Amino acid sequence: MDKKTAAYDVIIAGAGPTGLMLAGELAMAGVRCRVVERREHRTRESRALGLHGRTMEVLNMRGLAEEVLARANPVPRVRVSLGNSLFDMGRLATDYGQLTIIPQGETEEILEKRATGLGVVVDRGVTLTDCRQEGRIVSCTLEQEGREWEETASFLVGCDGSRSRVREAMGAEFTGATYPYTIIVADVKLGTPLDDQLLIRVGRAGLVVATDFGNGWYRMGVIDRDKPWSDNPVTLAEVDQTLRKLFGRDMRPSEPLWTSRFHIQERQASFYRKGRMVIAGDAAHVHSPLGGQGLNLGIQDAMNLGWKLSAVVKGRAADDLLDTFAEERRRVSQGVIKVTDIATRMMTSDRLPARIARKAVMTVASRVPATHQTAVGHLSGIYTSYPSMGAAAGASPLVGTRVPDLKIAGRGTPQRLHEALRQGGFVLIDSGTGAPLLPSVPEPDGNLVRLTGRVVADSGQWRKPEVILIRPDGYCAWAGSRTRAQAELANTYLRWIQA
Ligand SMILES: Cc1cc2nc3c(=O)[nH]c(=O)nc-3n(C[C@H](O)[C@H](O)[C@H](O)COP(=O)(O)OP(=O)(O)OC[C@H]3O[C@@H](n4cnc5c(N)ncnc54)[C@H](O)[C@@H]3O)c2cc1C
Repeated sequence: MDKKTAAYDVIIAGAGPTGLMLAGELAMAGVRCRVVERREHRTRESRALGLHGRTMEVLNMRGLAEEVLARANPVPRVRVSLGNSLFDMGRLATDYGQLTIIPQGETEEILEKRATGLGVVVDRGVTLTDCRQEGRIVSCTLEQEGREWEETASFLVGCDGSRSRVREAMGAEFTGATYPYTIIVADVKLGTPLDDQLLIRVGRAGLVVATDFGNGWYRMGVIDRDKPWSDNPVTLAEVDQTLRKLFGRDMRPSEPLWTSRFHIQERQASFYRKGRMVIAGDAAHVHSPLGGQGLNLGIQDAMNLGWKLSAVVKGRAADDLLDTFAEERRRVSQGVIKVTDIATRMMTSDRLPARIARKAVMTVASRVPATHQTAVGHLSGIYTSYPSMGAAAGASPLVGTRVPDLKIAGRGTPQRLHEALRQGGFVLIDSGTGAPLLPSVPEPDGNLVRLTGRVVADSGQWRKPEVILIRPDGYCAWAGSRTRAQAELANTYLRWIQA
């Protein structure tokens, strides 16, 4: 089959946060994409409540952060009962030093509005039942109300959650484990208010994560060590009894908005891409909910994949650019799986060494400034980096790291990096003078925004390099002097995208 016969550039299976974010990224670059979603409606469950600092930065790079903030409840600090430890995300160098609490359905609504505003059609009630690559085309079997038909695309991305059909068709294994514990989730009002907006209470009976999501509502996530699995729905009486046991007092829960019961799993797909089929979000990785990373990883997967897949579809990069998505994001989710696994085991164990260790770890991590910073830096995603980007000999240590929302003073009003990234292209910050850099890239060019001026105060290490090249997902692709830039920059740019 010939590429020209594909009906779409990309079909995305799944309109969860990952699929909707990706659809917006592709549509912004002019890629023809279609989203198919099995469910008739967006989730009405609060599910993932917390957007971390890096996710908010990413949303700001696409002009979406303000709408999220207008609907959200900001929570800057997390209290852990062990040693009365406090983790303060307000101490991070970002405009979003907080956990931004917003129900998943509302995050999805904002992402869907952006995608449909850019022309994406989200087909609800449509299930992808099968898919296969034939030459350079992926054929998808879709089903709605008993009717089946075929649709074709140049690429298929499975954002279809932990039971991904696309992952199965790719033949990727989803290796990992299921924890022995049951987790109960309940969105309730509490008659006994809590002093903290986000409290992790750990005791010998188990663990509670209580999150204030505004107007007197709390999300209670509970692991009761002794509770066996049950197929019955969670009742208010059960929530009441479990909270009483874990808090040691009557919390007086009422008005349950949503309750659920599930097993915690940690799994990762053995590969993320096979030819023209790719998976992202929960389809590629699931892990313990401790730390609230799932939705955050999915949105950042989509941010990493979006511009790369657009470049491949538009013929500006070879297919193997997609392997950098798989490599970079697999490493990040591997790290999250490892850390959340250790934390979950340590927090839920009743063995004496674990009880001693968790108290010591929490006390040190929250009180020693350097370890506190490392803990909140990783929790928030602000410290996420892609070391493989900086593997070239002599590369600046800044390459592969997240670039904050730098302020650049040139002629006229100072410009902000994250605003410049809203066009979806690379950004080149050039504070020197002389012959233009990257002369082969036409100007203006949607794939490269040039900011001329110097990085101003409070930007620490970012003030040193004369030239900084930033990828569309906000990571540093190159940094250094103008002299070196004349020699190296073109090759670096070409590594990612053809001018
Ligand atoms: C109770 C609970 C609490 C959570 N709390 C947090 C939290 O605080 N923070 C956090 O970051 N994460 C949290 N998570 C995890 C978070 O909800 C997920 O990580 C996130 O939804 C993953 O997004 P996704 O788009 O990758 O997958 P999903 O949200 O699972 O979306 C996949 C979509 O694909 C659709 N689909 C599936 N198969 C097909 C098919 N064959 N054809 C068409 N459509 C299909 C599904 O209907 C679904 O809409 C929580 C999850 C649960 C269940």
